Amino acid sequence: MIIEISNHKLDVDLDKTKEFYTTAPLVSESCSCNGCHNFEKAVDALPTEVIDFFSQLGIDMKKMCEVYASHENADGTLSYGGFTHICGKIIEGDSAWVEASPNSSYWESEKAIHITNNFQVTFKEECYLLEDNFPRPSFQLELQADIPWVLPEEHDYYKCMSTEKKQCITNNVYCFESAKIAKVFLLPKEGVLIDCGLPWEVRGIHKEMKNIRYNPKNLKHILITHSDFDHVGGLTKLLFDSPNATVWVGKDDVQYLVSEKKRPSLKGWILDLFKPNLPADYRVLEDWKHSKIEAINTPGHSEGHHAFKYDSCLFIGDIYKNINGKLKSAKKNEDREVLAKTREFIKTIGCNLIIPSHGDIIDKEILP
Ligand SMILES: [Zn+2]
Ligand SMILES: [Zn+2]
Repeated sequence: MIIEISNHKLDVDLDKTKEFYTTAPLVSESCSCNGCHNFEKAVDALPTEVIDFFSQLGIDMKKMCEVYASHENADGTLSYGGFTHICGKIIEGDSAWVEASPNSSYWESEKAIHITNNFQVTFKEECYLLEDNFPRPSFQLELQADIPWVLPEEHDYYKCMSTEKKQCITNNVYCFESAKIAKVFLLPKEGVLIDCGLPWEVRGIHKEMKNIRYNPKNLKHILITHSDFDHVGGLTKLLFDSPNATVWVGKDDVQYLVSEKKRPSLKGWILDLFKPNLPADYRVLEDWKHSKIEAINTPGHSEGHHAFKYDSCLFIGDIYKNINGKLKSAKKNEDREVLAKTREFIKTIGCNLIIPSHGDIIDKEILP
């Protein structure tokens, strides 16, 4: 039977799929952790769109092959992943899994099918843990979803103070909602801003400062993780309202801001479009001394890349990009060897919250 769902065309053997699920074990029978138990119970509380989506494919959601909770979201739901199988073939359609390198891939939300706001699925040919008695041919359905916790007991999953959903990461760190590409952080007690966003994001940043009653004139320092356009583009505009702020940038990244030297690939060309004026009295992060904030040279993404340690937070810039819970692997235009060393190194820095510039706070468990 041909089923068309968004950009997918699937040839599903509905009878064989249904038959398999009638005798398959419940999620809670194949795993005893409370995350799995919760999933099975929570199915009853899911919106009908979700239930209908699975049943049109012959799947009993309570009998998925594998589900796993990773962390608690800011709204109290749990972030789940999971997969299960369908008898048939994918005729057409792209998977949301995008290969970043031969051994790593990440979930690209735009390519996924959004059944509801917080329930996404995708399909792929490759089947993990395919049951011996599963009818062939088969393909895999994968889900990424926020699911309520319905069990009476408390769970022990990591609680994520999401930078996506909550602007205050801790009482001392504010993350600007207006900076959409690379995050901008304010440490109000120290008068410090980390990165600058893009020129057109600065207005929103100032608005937010007003909302939290922070006077931009009190900004003493602007710390730059590195010289990519999405991290420095807003600098010139920001300095208009924060004339007392000193700009700090890694020694080896200064070259990209003051000279003709280009960042690799497209980035260099884009930076040219948004290149800020580095004020004449800028300082290099190698000279940074502060009792509470540490600047750590973390090369690889760029030579002069810096991470910043403050309280329980480690701001890691672009050492890792967290794309929906998957860490992007090093790109061709990064110094892979150096970056690998930096990545090993940051694991040794004791910090509870690893905060990348792109994507959500990184759960330490997923650091490779
Ligand atoms: Zn970058
Ligand atoms: Zn970046």
